[in-house]
Amino acid sequence: MSDINVDVLIIGAGPSGCVAAAYLHSQGIRVKVLEKSKFPRFVIGESLLPRCMDHFEEVGLLDCLKAQGFEVKSGARFLRDDIVCNFDFSKKHTDGWNWTWQVPRADFDNTLVQEIIKKGVDVAFEHEVTDVVIADDGTSKTSVKTKDGDTYFVNANFIIDSSGYGRVLPRLLGLDKPSQIPEHSSIFGHVKDVRRPEGEEGTIITFDVLDKDTWLWVIPFSNGNTSIGFVGKHEFIESESGTTAQRLNALLKHSKYYRDRFQDLDYLFEPITIKNYSKAVTKFYGKGFALTGNSAEFLDPVFSSGVTFATESALRASKLIAKELKGETVDWKEAYEGYIKKGVDVFATYVKEWYTGNLQTLFFHRPENPDVKRQICAVLAGYVWDETNPFVKKHNRAVKTMAHLINMEKEKSE
Ligand code: FAD
Repeated sequence: MSDINVDVLIIGAGPSGCVAAAYLHSQGIRVKVLEKSKFPRFVIGESLLPRCMDHFEEVGLLDCLKAQGFEVKSGARFLRDDIVCNFDFSKKHTDGWNWTWQVPRADFDNTLVQEIIKKGVDVAFEHEVTDVVIADDGTSKTSVKTKDGDTYFVNANFIIDSSGYGRVLPRLLGLDKPSQIPEHSSIFGHVKDVRRPEGEEGTIITFDVLDKDTWLWVIPFSNGNTSIGFVGKHEFIESESGTTAQRLNALLKHSKYYRDRFQDLDYLFEPITIKNYSKAVTKFYGKGFALTGNSAEFLDPVFSSGVTFATESALRASKLIAKELKGETVDWKEAYEGYIKKGVDVFATYVKEWYTGNLQTLFFHRPENPDVKRQICAVLAGYVWDETNPFVKKHNRAVKTMAHLINMEKEKSE
């Protein structure tokens, strides 16, 4: 096969790659998307945040998603023992979307990619990137292998690496570094939710907290199936024996709230385990490339921030590339890495404080403080760049200080 020349090569057709491709294509920039799998394909990451609706809307991908009838997510419920902490996205500090979806990603991602193809984006499925050479001026030569074993090269002025867990450029350029998040692992699967209760109880997304390190997600889909998954220390995830289906089923005994609903149901595919899933990189960009979505950084699933960061970073990077291709100078350090890191840092604090137990102290303290709740709710909706929110601006101290005050109050009353 002969070489292909494009302005921008995008590696991966997940939400990050699709948002980047939709934006660049709308600007008349020549884009090619290389995707190693055949779609629809499974990927985890099923609970979205309202903030990502802004991104899909801006690049013209919202209507195709609306037409799918995915389950609406208008908040999130956290349970611990008998205490319930309900966040309602209509009651949040920052203006913005009040709802989003909980989605089977195979269908969701396939809807996105089919829509960009309809818009005219060139997407090659089952074409895997195997090597990338970037010259000093930023132009690159990418080696591609097709499913049939053919190989060819793509010459590009810029690469967006949206390869998710494939982590193409971090691997090839040696950009990986240890994550700042404490290590956790996960085991998850999908069931036909045949004992789903009527009404909101059947469809609400829930995080059932077993202890400081361990929790179960329950994400019901509009197709009648539900995603369930445990997160915990690796020893907990590995504590049962047998196949992954047997292990996930056995772990359900720890959830007083959900074991009757989900125990002994058949899984729709063999459940999957991911060990120590958090990832980080030494830099988010370089001459001629940008890392977006999971190929850059992945924190933790507890606040469902993965897809939103994937689309936020994709849109940001593609806008900067469009400027650069028009001859404008771009300060990537500040305009890209600095901006994305600001949001990542807010979520990183919340994830860390979740596992220290401080955030759980806030969530499950009674009576609730409505002002604090609205501010935290805006963070959980993904609005982590709004510095009018003290729980964004002072994220390093706000959670810790509040938890400390609650604990002191508790000690005094004991
Ligand atoms: P992906 O969606 O992973 O897409 C990357 C694409 O690149 C894939 O299609 C892949 O086939 C392709 N690719 C890889 N290598 C190559 C190659 N060499 N050549 C060509 N193509 C390639 N996020 C949430 O928002 N909500 C959640 O509830 C949530 N839950 C999670 C639970 C767990 C246990 C984990 C580990 C993660 C969770 N996430 C969640 C994170 C979420 O999975 C990711 O953040 C999200 O999928 C990132 O999207 P992306 O577009 O960056 O990558």
